[in-house]
Amino acid sequence: MERVECVVVGAGVVGLATARRLARAGREVIVLEAADAIGTGTSSRNSEVIHAGIYYPTGSLRARLCVPGRDALYDYCAAHGVEHRRIGKLIVATEESQLPKLAAIRAQAAANGVNDLTEVDAATAMGWEPNLRTVGALLSPSTGIIDSHGLMLALLGDAEESGAMLALQSPLLRSHRTADGFELEVGGAEPMRLACSALVNAAGLGAWAVARGLEGLDAAHVPPRVLAKGNYYALAAGRSPFSRLVYPVPVEGGLGVHLTLDLAGQARFGPDVEWLGDIAGHGEGPIDYAVDPVRADSFYGAVRAYWPGLPDHALVPAYSGVRPKLSGPGQPQADFLIQGPETHGVDGLINLFGIESPGLTSCLAIADAVAAELGEAPEIIGSSWGSQGS
Ligand SMILES: Cc1cc2nc3c(=O)[nH]c(=O)nc-3n(C[C@H](O)[C@H](O)[C@H](O)COP(=O)(O)OP(=O)(O)OC[C@H]3O[C@@H](n4cnc5c(N)ncnc54)[C@H](O)[C@@H]3O)c2cc1C
Repeated sequence: MERVECVVVGAGVVGLATARRLARAGREVIVLEAADAIGTGTSSRNSEVIHAGIYYPTGSLRARLCVPGRDALYDYCAAHGVEHRRIGKLIVATEESQLPKLAAIRAQAAANGVNDLTEVDAATAMGWEPNLRTVGALLSPSTGIIDSHGLMLALLGDAEESGAMLALQSPLLRSHRTADGFELEVGGAEPMRLACSALVNAAGLGAWAVARGLEGLDAAHVPPRVLAKGNYYALAAGRSPFSRLVYPVPVEGGLGVHLTLDLAGQARFGPDVEWLGDIAGHGEGPIDYAVDPVRADSFYGAVRAYWPGLPDHALVPAYSGVRPKLSGPGQPQADFLIQGPETHGVDGLINLFGIESPGLTSCLAIADAVAAELGEAPEIIGSSWGSQGS
């Protein structure tokens, strides 16, 4: 049986960033990917926004990993020619009653170390963006957009340059603990058994199945999986009405129907939140990514609050992604869960659960945290990582 030091399960942005990080630290790495290409999961079904780190609760992993992750990502993109643009984001109040919320958002951002938000009065904001209607706004200059596939190709190239190997069409089916690590049963066209000392479960929506398939992991450490689909709608015709990202003041349970732009300048609205329920009722079967045109009806009112010129019937289904969540409707938003041996007691195992937004922005920082859990000195997240715990 072939033996390798580290196996990373999943070639999404987090798995690839982790493989790169571990390979560059001199570890021998194989990435197992169930699909026939990298990045076919959530990593290619998102808003492709580099988030500044504004809204997350202070001290949460999402806050602690987004801010350094964002900076590292901008540097990485610049150094590796990954297409991105720091186009900025406007958070807009559309009623006077929302103005105090802008102040609260600014305070929360500052608590997270995001100190570059500036107040923009209505006239200035509407001068910048003539299609906008607002009574006051915040500008986040460090929010940007990125080519997520270009990023994943760069991460893979880097990882391979440092000796990592990628095995496509290689789903991890089951794993067993051994005296010195794990024995993995890998399916696909050429099923194999593989031994490793460290196992990083970065399987995204599949992370729960990977964890449940690990003999010897106490089921109490596998949290419930809750799926929330996010649907996007694009403009049927015409150019984007805005040159920056435009977000309303957040609503209960979400960021509100916002406008993002891709690098080609196409505008899209979303994602909304469509609860798909708990995995217990869903099995591990394929996910239906089809976007229901009827759901667009609920977007018009929300978008017209800040873009009154949105024409009737202008929104057409674009694409969707599914958030691997750890909390359901009405519950406080759960944090990322990076689970190491100090939690589950299995040496060499790191499980990543609930890596929803801002997972793309944070991928390099998450990879650094995984490496730290496996004994490497942190490079991005700060030396206090271990003492604060994950
Ligand atoms: C609607 C939406 C919008 C978002 N917008 C943003 C945004 O604008 N900015 C941001 O920072 N973040 C955003 N995110 C979050 C971000 O997309 C994710 O955090 C990130 O892509 C997660 O990457 P991943 O590698 O963990 O998962 P994935 O990309 O899902 O990769 C997991 C991989 O594991 C593979 N796999 C699964 N099971 C197995 C198995 N048993 N064996 C082998 N391989 C397996 C899958 O095929 C897949 O390729 C958004 C998410 C959603 C859903």
